[in-house]
Order: sequence, then structure tokens, then C-alpha cells
Amino acid sequence: MKRLILLLFSLSLLTSLNAQKVCEPFALKDVTLLSSRFQRNMQRDSAWIASIPVSSLLHSFRNTAGVFSSKEGGYMTMKHLAGWESMDCDLRGHITGHLLSAMAYLQMKEKADSIVQGLAEVQRQCGTGYLSAYGEGLIDRNIQGKSVWAPFYTLHKILQGLLDQYTMCGNETALEVAKGMGTWAYNKLKPLSEETRVRMIRNEFGGFNEAMYNLYAITKEEAGEDQASKYLWVARFFYHNDKIDPLKAGNKDLGTNHANTFIPKLLGECKNYELFGDNSSRNAAENLFWTLVNDHAFVTGEVSDKEHLFKPETQSKHLTGYDGENCCTYNLLKLADRLFTYQPDSKIADYYERALYNHILGQQDTLTSMVCYFTPLMTGGYRLYSTRDSSFWCCVGSGFESHAKYQSSIYFHSGNELYVNLFIPSELNWNGTIIRQETAFPESNKTVITITNNREPLTLKIRYPYWATYMKVNGKRVKAGKDGFVMVKNAKRMEVEFGMELREEATKDNPTRVAILRGPIVMAGRMEKVDCPFSDPKKYNDYYTFDYGKHPDVPLGSLPLEPFYNMQHCRYVVYWKK
Ligand SMILES: [Zn+2]
Repeated sequence: MKRLILLLFSLSLLTSLNAQKVCEPFALKDVTLLSSRFQRNMQRDSAWIASIPVSSLLHSFRNTAGVFSSKEGGYMTMKHLAGWESMDCDLRGHITGHLLSAMAYLQMKEKADSIVQGLAEVQRQCGTGYLSAYGEGLIDRNIQGKSVWAPFYTLHKILQGLLDQYTMCGNETALEVAKGMGTWAYNKLKPLSEETRVRMIRNEFGGFNEAMYNLYAITKEEAGEDQASKYLWVARFFYHNDKIDPLKAGNKDLGTNHANTFIPKLLGECKNYELFGDNSSRNAAENLFWTLVNDHAFVTGEVSDKEHLFKPETQSKHLTGYDGENCCTYNLLKLADRLFTYQPDSKIADYYERALYNHILGQQDTLTSMVCYFTPLMTGGYRLYSTRDSSFWCCVGSGFESHAKYQSSIYFHSGNELYVNLFIPSELNWNGTIIRQETAFPESNKTVITITNNREPLTLKIRYPYWATYMKVNGKRVKAGKDGFVMVKNAKRMEVEFGMELREEATKDNPTRVAILRGPIVMAGRMEKVDCPFSDPKKYNDYYTFDYGKHPDVPLGSLPLEPFYNMQHCRYVVYWKK
């Protein structure tokens, strides 16, 4: 009888595990970008990544562990990375982690393999599984509640980078190194009291919980439940009760939380839902996402000012030089992708499109490949970019990733249904069936989708965007279903046309402060040229205090309109005075 109950329990668990996701994204390698700004951004991103020497990315890891780095430690012979990768910056090593992920997206295997080999050697030297570019003393400081800058945040980037190298590029060494890190974390954290746990997780830890859930999911078959359960224990150690419990209870007052400390915690909750069917975790993630998207987001999809959230009814007071840290949107888009797989809803893809075109795409300077930290929304503000080797801010790291995975969210699939969420020129190879999307969107209001080589009939679900005044497929007006998608069966070639008109969106609190959009694209006004829009590495985090000067309001209609993502090396106006 006991066995029967166990069997029934296992079966019901199996059913619930299969029930978490309604649709899936495609592997990045299945989707190829065709000629577009997205493709060119990705090429520039790749070139920057390729130019950073492996020896520089391993330098601080090797020197800290006492592994040979270069002659006499390399103080004269090495190309040193500066800024947040300096030997005396607590966050050093985070870029190496981000790049392992970005290189997995880009399939830059040879270079990534060399980095993984180097990291494995450093880990062997440490002997406990610990792996970082800083000494374990920083972890001890975190545990003791002393001043230290986010050591588990950096470990998250390294751990997830290794996991991406394993899952996307098949690097077995990367998984072994990741397992070593997981075992070290378990041994380090297991003896700690609850009081210590509560204190130490107040320090920013990025998505370390999510990466540990991922390690658990990957290893539970092969390493055995006993070993994997230790990784699961670490994932749950980082459950931040003070932040997540109110979200589970439906609280929508997000206070002045540090946005990028807050958002990635929910990616771990998503993983808990996906693995164990815990609906409270999903509820928390959905609550944060929709509260940010509906109540907090600026017209560009950005949600913060000086990295912090603020009360939505004061939004117009927060049009400053410090809006919208890139990392926050990078993490919100990750969250959007996860939620979409649970319940495909065009509104999720609507937000994705808004934030992708108006925040992420314009983060990169097309003239130099450099990226910005904030995207100011004050009148007269401009994009202030990183330097090539002396900034390495968090947003440089998330930027490396953002511009390397534009293919990630164009298409999703469920059975024989294909979701077309974004109108980006691309070709999808779906087990031999080729879906090609050709478009000059958003300059054009049309996209053409052709399907070839399919053995079975496909059903396309094409997003009916919130901004479209009408939508036509092959010349006929169409309507969306309840999920916001237009269903097209058995078609071979679809010409999709959208009604795109200019419209206004005011701030949440002030109807006289308005942005102009054409379709999903924020249209801005170009002000005077800026000769050198780059951060000064000699100044301490100058993006955070940069003085853009005072500029009077610009009345609506007084400047020609251009897509906001094209505003670079110039001051601009996004929110006009009406
Ligand atoms: Zn950042």
C-alpha cells in the first residue's frame, strides 16, 4: 500500500512537473539574425569580446590563488583590466563570468575553453572548490556582516557562466568546476546560524539562488540526489524572506528597493516553480513583474532612478540623468521570458519589445561599441558610455550578454504551434523546418514570414501588438484571440501589416509631461552634439554623479522626431512639455 501511495505521489509529481511550462524558447543556435541593427550590434559586441585577452580575464584569479599568471606576476607584462576589474575592486572577476555566458550564446568555443581550463587550474590550487578572483576573506566578511561589495553577486556570474558553457557548448570541465563551487558553497554555508543567514543575504547576491537551482537541475540525475540536494540546499539558503514573502502575499508597494538587487532574486523563484511546481514562487515573480511593468516603468521600459525604485506617483520627478540601469532591464527581460513560458500572453512580449528597442538596443554606441550604465530621461541628458578597458561596470557585463542573445525571444514553440513574438529579421531552423522573417521593421510596418521544408502543417501565432491600430495578414484584417495572438494555420507565406501611428504616453503622475511613440518606438528630439560622451576613468563612478547641466523644458512639436535608440553623441528630449 505504501508503495502504491508512493507511486501515485510520484506520478502526480511527474504530471505537475510537466505542467509548469506551456511553451519553450528555442536554443539560440537555432535562430540566426539577418541583416539589421540587432545583427550589427551583435557583431560589434563579439568583436569587443574577442579583443579581450584570455590572460587578462584570468589575471586576477591566478594572482589571488598564487597560480602563475605571467613573469613576476605580470605587473609589467600583462594587459590589466581596470575599473571594476582592478585588482583592488571587490567585484573583480564578474566580467569573466558574464563573458563565459556571452561566449556560450555566441558559440565562441575556443576562447571560452581556454578560460575554463584556466579557472579549473585556479580552483585546484584553492583545493576546496572555492573559485574567485578575490580571496575567501571577502566571503568571511559577508558572513560576519562587515563592509564588502557583493561577493556572491560575482560568484553568481562565474557559476552561471560555467553552466552556460556546459549546457550550450558541452564543456564537461565547466560542469566539474561548477560542481566544485556548489560543494564549496554548501560546506561554507551549512554551519551558519539562521541569524547569520538573514544578515548576510541582505548583501546583494544577484541570481546566485537561480544558478544553484540550475546546478541542482543539471546534476540531480547524474550526480545523484544526495549530492544535488546540497546544491538545492544552497539555492534555498538564499531565499530572501523579507523581500519575497510580501510579494507572495500580493504586496505591490515596492518601496525604494535597489532594483537590480531585487529583480534577479525572482529568477530563482521561477526556477523553484519550474522544478517543484511551487505556485507561491510563480505568484511572487508575476507580482513583481506586473507591478514593475504596469506601475513603475517609464516609456522606455526602464524602472529605476539612481538604481532605486520610487513611488509611481512621483515618476515625473524622476526624469533625471540616472534612470534605467541596464542590468535591471536585462534581468526583467529574463523574467519576461520565463513568465511567457508559463502562460503565453502578448502583453509580456509587448513589454519585451518596448524595453528591447527603447532601452537595450540603444545601450550600445554604434560608433565605438561602448555601452552606457544609465539611460537618462531628463531633457538635455545624453548617453554616457563606458571606456574599452577601464570601466567594466555591471552594465558592461550585462551589456556583453544582452547584445549577444537578441535571437532568444523572437520565437517560442508549443507542440506544432509557433509563437512569433518579435518582428526582427531572422531565420529559425525548427528541426529542419525553416521559418524566415524578412522585415525592415520598425522603419517599415510590414514583415514577411515564409515557411519551407516543413513535413507537418504548422500553426503560427503572431503577436497582435498593443500599439497596432490594425493588423492584416495577406491583406485581410485579423483579430487577436484572448491571449493576444493571431492564429494562422497551414500558411506558407504571410505578409503581416500593422497600423503604426504616432501617439502620446504621459508619465504616471503628470498628463502634461508626455513621450511620443510610433508603434513601439519612442521618438525623441535631437538637441546639440556632444563631442566626448564617455565616462572619465579617473573619476570615481562618474556616471553616478555626472552633471548634465540644467536644461529648460522643450515644448511638444518644436523638434523633429527620430527613434530614441538612434540618439547617440547628442543631448536629447524624451519627455516633452505639453
Ligand atoms: Zn548594472
